[in-house]
Amino acid sequence: MNRFKIIIILAFSAFLIAFLYLQLQSKPKENKMENTPINKSEEEWKKELTPEQYRVLREKGTERPGTGEYNLHFEEGEYKCAGCGTVLFGSDTKYESHCGWPSFYDIDDKSKIKEIKDTSHGMIRTEVVCANCGGHLGHVFNDGPNPTGLRYCINSVSLDFAPDTNKSKNK
Ligand SMILES: [Zn+2]
Repeated sequence: MNRFKIIIILAFSAFLIAFLYLQLQSKPKENKMENTPINKSEEEWKKELTPEQYRVLREKGTERPGTGEYNLHFEEGEYKCAGCGTVLFGSDTKYESHCGWPSFYDIDDKSKIKEIKDTSHGMIRTEVVCANCGGHLGHVFNDGPNPTGLRYCINSVSLDFAPDTNKSKNK
């Protein structure tokens, strides 16, 4: 009878340890977006960003279609994250998609963004956020042109444009 009790206790302990281990393992996943290299408080972001940048980047807002500064902007240069300055898109991949927001068919380096499944507003979309600061950029869709077939639909407010100074010097 004693041996039976010991087995029960051991089995229960093993179960408890496994349960606690799984709990600890799953915690970082829930806070995935909090673990970006730049992790400022909401107060700090409010001080640094304009109210519209804050609404889009930090509260996942969307600028009204056709109103963005870079919607119909086709100069040569780089588009950086407005939150942290990371270079995200080049002007060579920007195209006119007629969707009302700046559209790119490719990204400079995929590791600079994170893609998150977004089920808000009754749609299944893929949200794109800056991997460095966690700022909301826009969404990526599968209706873009060749060679990628992708359309990165990005808010102008989430971007800062830097003209290509080398090219203008050569002119
Ligand atoms: Zn950023």
